[in-house]
Amino acid sequence: STPGPRDVDVVVIGAGQAGLSTAWALARQGFAPGTGFVVLDGEEAPGGAWRHRWPSLTLGTTHRVHDLPGLPFTPDDDSAPAVESVPAYFTEYEQRFGLPVLRPVRVAAVRRGADHRFRVETDRGAWTARAVVNATGTWTRPFVPRYPGQERFRGRQLHTVDYRSAEEFRGQHVVVVGGGASATQLLAEISRVTSTTWVTRRPPVWRAGPFDADAGRRAVAMVEEAVREGRRPGSVVGVTGLPTSTPYIREGLDRGVLQRLPMFDRITPGGVAWDAAGGVESRFVAADVILWATGFRAAVGHLAPLRLRDPGRGFRMEGTQVAGEPRLHLVGYGPSASTIGANRAGQAAARVLRRELRPGAPLPR
Ligand code: FAD
Repeated sequence: STPGPRDVDVVVIGAGQAGLSTAWALARQGFAPGTGFVVLDGEEAPGGAWRHRWPSLTLGTTHRVHDLPGLPFTPDDDSAPAVESVPAYFTEYEQRFGLPVLRPVRVAAVRRGADHRFRVETDRGAWTARAVVNATGTWTRPFVPRYPGQERFRGRQLHTVDYRSAEEFRGQHVVVVGGGASATQLLAEISRVTSTTWVTRRPPVWRAGPFDADAGRRAVAMVEEAVREGRRPGSVVGVTGLPTSTPYIREGLDRGVLQRLPMFDRITPGGVAWDAAGGVESRFVAADVILWATGFRAAVGHLAPLRLRDPGRGFRMEGTQVAGEPRLHLVGYGPSASTIGANRAGQAAARVLRRELRPGAPLPR
Protein backbone atom coordinates (compact mmCIF):
# COMPACT_ATOMS: atom_id res chain seq x y z
CA SER A 1 0.00 0.00 0.00
CA THR A 2 1.03 3.65 -0.37
CA PRO A 3 2.69 5.40 2.58
CA GLY A 4 1.39 8.53 4.30
CA PRO A 5 -1.77 9.65 6.03
CA ARG A 6 -5.08 8.39 4.76
CA ASP A 7 -7.18 11.23 6.23
CA VAL A 8 -6.51 14.53 4.49
CA ASP A 9 -8.25 17.82 3.76
CA VAL A 10 -8.38 17.39 -0.01
CA VAL A 11 -8.02 14.43 -2.36
CA VAL A 12 -7.31 15.38 -5.96
CA ILE A 13 -8.13 12.60 -8.42
CA GLY A 14 -6.03 12.65 -11.60
CA ALA A 15 -2.61 14.16 -12.38
CA GLY A 16 -3.09 15.69 -15.82
CA GLN A 17 -2.99 19.45 -16.49
CA ALA A 18 -6.07 19.94 -14.30
CA GLY A 19 -4.89 17.87 -11.33
CA LEU A 20 -1.36 19.26 -11.34
CA SER A 21 -2.43 22.90 -11.51
CA THR A 22 -4.84 22.20 -8.63
CA ALA A 23 -2.06 20.57 -6.61
CA TRP A 24 0.35 23.45 -7.19
CA ALA A 25 -2.31 25.94 -6.14
CA LEU A 26 -3.39 23.95 -3.07
CA ALA A 27 0.20 24.05 -1.81
CA ARG A 28 0.28 27.82 -2.39
CA GLN A 29 -2.99 28.19 -0.51
CA GLY A 30 -1.50 26.57 2.59
CA PHE A 31 -2.55 22.93 2.25
CA ALA A 32 0.40 20.74 3.26
CA PRO A 33 1.55 18.36 0.51
CA GLY A 34 1.06 14.77 1.67
CA THR A 35 -0.72 15.52 4.95
CA GLY A 36 -3.18 18.22 3.85
CA PHE A 37 -3.72 16.93 0.33
CA VAL A 38 -2.74 14.10 -1.99
CA VAL A 39 -3.16 13.49 -5.72
CA LEU A 40 -4.24 9.98 -6.71
CA ASP A 41 -3.40 9.09 -10.31
CA GLY A 42 -4.17 5.92 -12.22
CA GLU A 43 -1.13 6.16 -14.52
CA GLU A 44 2.17 4.33 -14.07
CA ALA A 45 4.14 7.57 -14.63
CA PRO A 46 3.60 11.34 -15.04
CA GLY A 47 1.91 12.79 -18.15
CA GLY A 48 -1.84 12.22 -17.80
CA ALA A 49 -3.51 11.48 -21.12
CA TRP A 50 -0.49 12.84 -23.00
CA ARG A 51 1.26 9.54 -22.24
CA HIS A 52 -1.11 7.89 -24.70
CA ARG A 53 -1.35 10.27 -27.67
CA TRP A 54 -0.47 8.85 -31.08
CA PRO A 55 3.23 9.19 -31.93
CA SER A 56 2.72 11.58 -34.87
CA LEU A 57 1.03 14.19 -32.67
CA THR A 58 3.56 16.96 -32.14
CA LEU A 59 3.35 20.35 -30.51
CA GLY A 60 3.53 23.25 -32.89
CA THR A 61 0.95 25.43 -34.53
CA THR A 62 -2.05 23.15 -34.01
CA HIS A 63 -1.34 21.62 -30.62
CA ARG A 64 -0.20 23.99 -27.94
CA VAL A 65 0.18 22.96 -24.37
CA HIS A 66 -0.22 25.86 -22.02
CA ASP A 67 2.31 26.28 -19.20
CA LEU A 68 1.42 24.82 -15.85
CA PRO A 69 1.61 27.51 -13.15
CA GLY A 70 5.11 28.33 -11.98
CA LEU A 71 7.21 26.54 -14.62
CA PRO A 72 7.24 27.43 -18.33
CA PHE A 73 6.98 24.60 -20.84
CA THR A 74 9.87 25.11 -23.22
CA PRO A 75 10.27 22.03 -25.40
CA ASP A 76 13.60 22.10 -27.28
CA ASP A 77 11.97 20.81 -30.38
CA ASP A 78 8.42 21.44 -31.67
CA SER A 79 8.68 18.34 -33.83
CA ALA A 80 9.23 15.99 -30.87
CA PRO A 81 6.22 13.74 -30.21
CA ALA A 82 3.90 15.20 -27.55
CA VAL A 83 3.72 11.70 -26.08
CA GLU A 84 7.34 12.27 -24.97
CA SER A 85 7.73 16.00 -24.42
CA VAL A 86 4.65 16.58 -22.25
CA PRO A 87 5.25 13.66 -19.86
CA ALA A 88 8.86 14.87 -19.49
CA TYR A 89 7.56 18.34 -18.55
CA PHE A 90 5.02 16.94 -16.08
CA THR A 91 7.75 14.78 -14.49
CA GLU A 92 9.95 17.81 -13.94
CA TYR A 93 6.96 19.76 -12.65
CA GLU A 94 5.94 17.18 -10.05
CA GLN A 95 9.52 16.93 -8.79
CA ARG A 96 10.24 20.66 -8.78
CA PHE A 97 7.26 21.44 -6.55
CA GLY A 98 7.32 18.21 -4.52
CA LEU A 99 3.73 17.44 -5.45
CA PRO A 100 2.33 14.47 -3.50
CA VAL A 101 1.21 12.35 -6.45
CA LEU A 102 0.56 8.71 -5.53
CA ARG A 103 0.49 6.23 -8.42
CA PRO A 104 -0.66 4.01 -9.78
CA VAL A 105 -3.80 4.46 -7.69
CA ARG A 106 -7.12 3.98 -9.44
CA VAL A 107 -10.19 5.46 -7.76
CA ALA A 108 -13.17 3.11 -7.94
CA ALA A 109 -15.76 5.05 -5.92
CA VAL A 110 -16.30 8.28 -4.01
CA ARG A 111 -18.95 8.06 -1.27
CA ARG A 112 -20.21 10.22 1.54
CA GLY A 113 -18.53 8.87 4.65
CA ALA A 114 -18.63 9.67 8.36
CA ASP A 115 -18.13 13.15 9.85
CA HIS A 116 -18.95 15.10 6.70
CA ARG A 117 -16.01 13.48 4.97
CA PHE A 118 -15.80 11.83 1.59
CA ARG A 119 -14.56 8.27 1.44
CA VAL A 120 -12.39 7.74 -1.65
CA GLU A 121 -12.10 4.03 -2.43
CA THR A 122 -9.23 2.83 -4.63
CA ASP A 123 -7.38 -0.29 -5.68
CA ARG A 124 -4.80 0.65 -3.03
CA GLY A 125 -7.15 1.17 -0.11
CA ALA A 126 -9.33 4.09 0.97
CA TRP A 127 -8.64 7.75 1.79
CA THR A 128 -10.99 10.17 3.50
CA ALA A 129 -11.17 13.89 2.72
CA ARG A 130 -13.17 16.98 3.52
CA ALA A 131 -13.24 17.86 -0.16
CA VAL A 132 -12.53 16.16 -3.49
CA VAL A 133 -11.26 17.73 -6.69
CA ASN A 134 -12.04 15.47 -9.62
CA ALA A 135 -9.59 15.95 -12.48
CA THR A 136 -9.87 12.62 -14.27
CA GLY A 137 -10.29 14.01 -17.78
CA THR A 138 -11.97 12.07 -20.57
CA TRP A 139 -9.28 9.99 -22.27
CA THR A 140 -10.21 6.82 -20.41
CA ARG A 141 -13.80 7.07 -21.70
CA PRO A 142 -13.70 7.11 -25.51
CA PHE A 143 -17.15 7.47 -27.04
CA VAL A 144 -18.32 5.39 -30.01
CA PRO A 145 -21.90 5.89 -31.20
CA ARG A 146 -24.04 2.88 -32.10
CA TYR A 147 -25.20 2.18 -35.65
CA PRO A 148 -27.26 -0.72 -36.95
CA GLY A 149 -25.15 -3.60 -38.23
CA GLN A 150 -22.03 -2.44 -36.39
CA GLU A 151 -21.31 -5.77 -34.72
CA ARG A 152 -21.35 -7.59 -38.07
CA PHE A 153 -18.71 -5.37 -39.71
CA ARG A 154 -15.92 -7.66 -40.96
CA GLY A 155 -13.23 -4.99 -41.03
CA ARG A 156 -11.49 -3.21 -38.19
CA GLN A 157 -13.12 -0.57 -36.02
CA LEU A 158 -11.04 1.64 -33.80
CA HIS A 159 -11.33 4.87 -31.85
CA THR A 160 -8.73 7.65 -31.99
CA VAL A 161 -7.35 6.41 -28.62
CA ASP A 162 -6.22 3.24 -30.46
CA TYR A 163 -4.69 5.06 -33.45
CA ARG A 164 -0.93 4.69 -33.79
CA SER A 165 0.11 5.39 -37.38
CA ALA A 166 -1.31 5.76 -40.87
CA GLU A 167 1.03 3.03 -42.13
CA GLU A 168 -1.07 0.27 -40.62
CA PHE A 169 -3.89 1.15 -43.05
CA ARG A 170 -1.86 1.15 -46.27
CA GLY A 171 -3.86 -0.46 -49.08
CA GLN A 172 -7.14 -0.37 -47.10
CA HIS A 173 -10.10 1.96 -47.46
CA VAL A 174 -10.62 3.94 -44.25
CA VAL A 175 -13.87 5.65 -43.25
CA VAL A 176 -13.19 8.40 -40.73
CA VAL A 177 -16.17 9.45 -38.61
CA GLY A 178 -16.29 12.76 -36.75
CA GLY A 179 -16.16 16.50 -37.32
CA GLY A 180 -13.50 17.66 -34.89
CA ALA A 181 -9.81 18.39 -34.82
CA SER A 182 -8.79 14.74 -34.39
CA ALA A 183 -10.85 13.62 -37.40
CA THR A 184 -9.42 16.24 -39.74
CA GLN A 185 -5.89 15.68 -38.53
CA LEU A 186 -6.02 11.92 -38.90
CA LEU A 187 -7.69 12.23 -42.33
CA ALA A 188 -4.92 14.49 -43.55
CA GLU A 189 -2.40 11.94 -42.32
CA ILE A 190 -4.05 8.70 -43.45
CA SER A 191 -5.02 10.05 -46.88
CA ARG A 192 -1.32 10.34 -47.71
CA VAL A 193 -0.94 6.56 -47.70
CA THR A 194 -4.37 5.23 -48.65
CA SER A 195 -7.93 6.12 -49.74
CA THR A 196 -10.35 7.64 -47.25
CA THR A 197 -13.99 8.70 -46.84
CA TRP A 198 -14.99 11.35 -44.32
CA VAL A 199 -18.43 11.35 -42.69
CA THR A 200 -19.77 13.83 -40.15
CA ARG A 201 -23.20 14.41 -38.65
CA ARG A 202 -23.18 18.11 -39.41
CA PRO A 203 -21.38 19.96 -42.20
CA PRO A 204 -18.04 21.24 -40.92
CA VAL A 205 -17.78 24.94 -40.15
CA TRP A 206 -14.56 26.31 -41.60
CA ARG A 207 -13.12 29.39 -39.95
CA ALA A 208 -10.96 31.52 -42.19
CA GLY A 209 -9.69 34.10 -39.71
CA PRO A 210 -7.13 33.55 -36.99
CA PHE A 211 -8.34 32.25 -33.66
CA ASP A 212 -7.88 35.39 -31.59
CA ALA A 213 -8.41 35.99 -27.89
CA ASP A 214 -11.89 37.42 -28.51
CA ALA A 215 -13.07 34.33 -30.33
CA GLY A 216 -11.60 32.24 -27.50
CA ARG A 217 -13.48 34.20 -24.84
CA ARG A 218 -16.75 33.93 -26.74
CA ALA A 219 -16.34 30.18 -27.11
CA VAL A 220 -15.59 29.71 -23.40
CA ALA A 221 -18.58 31.89 -22.42
CA MET A 222 -20.94 29.78 -24.55
CA VAL A 223 -19.70 26.57 -22.99
CA GLU A 224 -19.91 28.06 -19.48
CA GLU A 225 -23.52 28.97 -20.02
CA ALA A 226 -24.34 25.45 -21.18
CA VAL A 227 -22.72 24.00 -18.06
CA ARG A 228 -24.52 26.41 -15.68
CA GLU A 229 -27.80 25.26 -17.16
CA GLY A 230 -26.87 21.59 -16.86
CA ARG A 231 -26.77 21.08 -20.64
CA ARG A 232 -24.05 18.94 -22.16
CA PRO A 233 -21.54 21.39 -23.59
CA GLY A 234 -20.52 20.86 -27.20
CA SER A 235 -16.92 20.48 -28.26
CA VAL A 236 -14.72 23.52 -28.58
CA VAL A 237 -14.47 23.01 -32.36
CA GLY A 238 -18.27 22.95 -32.45
CA VAL A 239 -18.18 26.51 -31.17
CA THR A 240 -15.05 27.86 -32.84
CA GLY A 241 -15.03 26.08 -36.20
CA LEU A 242 -12.09 24.38 -37.93
CA PRO A 243 -9.28 26.81 -38.75
CA THR A 244 -8.39 26.75 -42.46
CA SER A 245 -5.16 28.56 -41.59
CA THR A 246 -3.85 25.34 -40.04
CA PRO A 247 -1.36 23.78 -42.46
CA TYR A 248 -2.78 20.24 -42.43
CA ILE A 249 -6.33 21.50 -42.95
CA ARG A 250 -5.34 23.85 -45.76
CA GLU A 251 -3.38 21.09 -47.41
CA GLY A 252 -6.18 18.54 -46.88
CA LEU A 253 -8.66 20.94 -48.49
CA ASP A 254 -6.28 21.47 -51.44
CA ARG A 255 -5.93 17.73 -51.98
CA GLY A 256 -9.72 17.29 -51.78
CA VAL A 257 -9.63 14.81 -48.89
CA LEU A 258 -11.75 17.01 -46.64
CA GLN A 259 -14.91 16.48 -48.70
CA ARG A 260 -17.43 15.21 -46.25
CA LEU A 261 -20.46 12.95 -46.59
CA PRO A 262 -23.40 13.02 -44.18
CA MET A 263 -23.54 10.32 -41.51
CA PHE A 264 -24.31 6.84 -42.90
CA ASP A 265 -27.46 5.02 -41.78
CA ARG A 266 -26.13 1.48 -41.46
CA ILE A 267 -22.99 -0.57 -41.26
CA THR A 268 -22.86 -3.74 -43.36
CA PRO A 269 -20.30 -6.54 -43.15
CA GLY A 270 -18.37 -4.92 -46.01
CA GLY A 271 -18.82 -1.18 -45.50
CA VAL A 272 -21.18 1.66 -44.71
CA ALA A 273 -24.54 2.43 -46.31
CA TRP A 274 -26.93 5.35 -46.72
CA ASP A 275 -30.63 4.66 -47.32
CA ALA A 276 -32.56 6.55 -49.98
CA ALA A 277 -34.39 9.49 -48.44
CA GLY A 278 -35.82 12.85 -49.48
CA GLY A 279 -34.81 12.50 -53.12
CA VAL A 280 -31.28 11.38 -52.24
CA GLU A 281 -30.28 8.00 -53.65
CA SER A 282 -29.06 5.12 -51.56
CA ARG A 283 -25.34 4.68 -51.47
CA PHE A 284 -22.70 2.21 -50.33
CA VAL A 285 -19.01 2.68 -49.60
CA ALA A 286 -16.90 -0.46 -49.17
CA ALA A 287 -14.62 -0.13 -46.17
CA ASP A 288 -11.84 -2.08 -44.48
CA VAL A 289 -11.56 0.23 -41.51
CA ILE A 290 -13.93 2.51 -39.61
CA LEU A 291 -12.03 5.02 -37.49
CA TRP A 292 -14.29 6.63 -34.90
CA ALA A 293 -12.99 10.13 -34.13
CA THR A 294 -16.14 10.70 -32.13
CA GLY A 295 -14.80 12.12 -28.94
CA PHE A 296 -15.03 11.31 -25.29
CA ARG A 297 -17.23 11.45 -22.23
CA ALA A 298 -16.20 12.62 -18.78
CA ALA A 299 -14.48 9.82 -16.84
CA VAL A 300 -16.65 10.22 -13.76
CA GLY A 301 -18.15 6.75 -13.18
CA HIS A 302 -16.51 6.67 -9.73
CA LEU A 303 -18.66 9.65 -8.67
CA ALA A 304 -21.91 7.77 -9.34
CA PRO A 305 -22.43 6.75 -5.65
CA LEU A 306 -22.86 10.48 -4.86
CA ARG A 307 -26.00 10.52 -7.04
CA LEU A 308 -25.49 14.07 -8.28
CA ARG A 309 -26.46 13.70 -11.90
CA ASP A 310 -29.90 13.77 -13.39
CA PRO A 311 -30.19 10.91 -15.85
CA GLY A 312 -29.12 11.94 -19.34
CA ARG A 313 -27.78 15.29 -18.21
CA GLY A 314 -24.44 16.59 -17.05
CA PHE A 315 -23.55 17.92 -13.64
CA ARG A 316 -24.98 21.35 -12.85
CA MET A 317 -22.03 23.52 -11.95
CA GLU A 318 -21.34 26.75 -10.09
CA GLY A 319 -17.81 27.64 -11.15
CA THR A 320 -15.77 24.54 -10.39
CA GLN A 321 -18.20 23.38 -7.68
CA VAL A 322 -20.96 20.89 -8.28
CA ALA A 323 -24.35 22.43 -7.50
CA GLY A 324 -25.74 20.64 -4.45
CA GLU A 325 -22.33 19.26 -3.39
CA PRO A 326 -20.00 22.26 -3.11
CA ARG A 327 -17.20 20.20 -1.52
CA LEU A 328 -16.82 18.40 -4.84
CA HIS A 329 -15.01 20.30 -7.58
CA LEU A 330 -14.74 19.24 -11.21
CA VAL A 331 -11.81 20.68 -13.16
CA GLY A 332 -10.88 20.08 -16.78
CA TYR A 333 -14.40 19.77 -18.21
CA GLY A 334 -16.68 21.96 -20.30
CA PRO A 335 -15.24 25.48 -20.22
CA SER A 336 -11.99 24.17 -18.72
CA ALA A 337 -11.46 21.29 -21.19
CA SER A 338 -8.19 22.60 -22.58
CA THR A 339 -4.75 22.96 -21.12
CA ILE A 340 -5.27 26.68 -20.45
CA GLY A 341 -8.78 26.16 -19.11
CA ALA A 342 -7.72 23.29 -16.85
CA ASN A 343 -4.95 25.45 -15.52
CA ARG A 344 -7.24 28.27 -14.52
CA ALA A 345 -9.91 25.97 -13.11
CA GLY A 346 -7.42 24.17 -10.87
CA GLN A 347 -6.25 27.45 -9.38
CA ALA A 348 -9.81 28.70 -8.96
CA ALA A 349 -10.80 25.49 -7.15
CA ALA A 350 -7.84 25.82 -4.76
CA ARG A 351 -8.82 29.41 -3.88
CA VAL A 352 -12.37 28.33 -3.05
CA LEU A 353 -11.09 25.39 -1.00
CA ARG A 354 -8.87 27.63 1.07
CA ARG A 355 -11.75 29.97 1.79
CA GLU A 356 -14.09 27.17 2.70
CA LEU A 357 -11.81 24.73 4.51
CA ARG A 358 -9.17 27.04 5.97
CA PRO A 359 -6.40 24.41 5.77
CA GLY A 360 -5.88 22.62 9.06
CA ALA A 361 -8.91 24.22 10.80
CA PRO A 362 -11.51 21.85 12.27
CA LEU A 363 -14.53 21.20 10.13
CA PRO A 364 -17.35 23.68 10.74
CA ARG A 365 -20.47 21.89 11.96
P1 FAD B 1 -5.89 14.11 -18.44
O1 FAD B 1 -4.63 14.57 -19.02
O2 FAD B 1 -6.67 13.06 -19.13
O3 FAD B 1 -5.55 13.59 -16.97
C1 FAD B 1 -6.46 12.84 -16.22
C2 FAD B 1 -5.68 11.91 -15.32
O4 FAD B 1 -6.61 11.26 -14.45
C3 FAD B 1 -4.95 10.82 -16.07
O5 FAD B 1 -3.65 10.67 -15.57
C4 FAD B 1 -5.81 9.59 -15.79
O6 FAD B 1 -5.08 8.37 -15.79
C5 FAD B 1 -6.31 9.90 -14.41
N1 FAD B 1 -7.53 9.15 -14.06
C6 FAD B 1 -8.66 8.99 -14.79
N2 FAD B 1 -9.56 8.26 -14.11
C7 FAD B 1 -8.98 7.96 -12.91
C8 FAD B 1 -9.40 7.23 -11.75
N3 FAD B 1 -10.62 6.67 -11.67
N4 FAD B 1 -8.54 7.11 -10.71
C9 FAD B 1 -7.32 7.68 -10.76
N5 FAD B 1 -6.86 8.39 -11.83
C10 FAD B 1 -7.69 8.52 -12.87
N6 FAD B 1 -5.73 20.98 -25.29
C11 FAD B 1 -4.92 22.04 -25.49
O7 FAD B 1 -5.02 23.01 -24.74
N7 FAD B 1 -4.03 22.06 -26.51
C12 FAD B 1 -3.89 21.02 -27.36
O8 FAD B 1 -3.08 21.07 -28.27
C13 FAD B 1 -4.70 19.86 -27.18
N8 FAD B 1 -4.59 18.78 -27.99
C14 FAD B 1 -5.35 17.69 -27.75
C15 FAD B 1 -5.21 16.57 -28.57
C16 FAD B 1 -5.98 15.44 -28.38
C17 FAD B 1 -5.81 14.25 -29.27
C18 FAD B 1 -6.95 15.43 -27.34
C19 FAD B 1 -7.82 14.22 -27.10
C20 FAD B 1 -7.11 16.55 -26.52
C21 FAD B 1 -6.32 17.68 -26.72
N9 FAD B 1 -6.45 18.81 -25.91
C22 FAD B 1 -5.63 19.89 -26.12
C23 FAD B 1 -7.36 18.84 -24.77
C24 FAD B 1 -6.47 18.65 -23.54
O9 FAD B 1 -5.70 17.48 -23.73
C25 FAD B 1 -7.21 18.46 -22.32
O10 FAD B 1 -8.18 19.44 -22.12
C26 FAD B 1 -6.29 18.48 -21.09
O11 FAD B 1 -5.01 17.98 -21.35
C27 FAD B 1 -6.94 17.61 -20.10
O12 FAD B 1 -6.22 17.59 -18.91
P2 FAD B 1 -6.87 16.83 -17.72
O13 FAD B 1 -5.97 17.01 -16.57
O14 FAD B 1 -8.28 17.22 -17.55
O15 FAD B 1 -6.95 15.27 -18.18
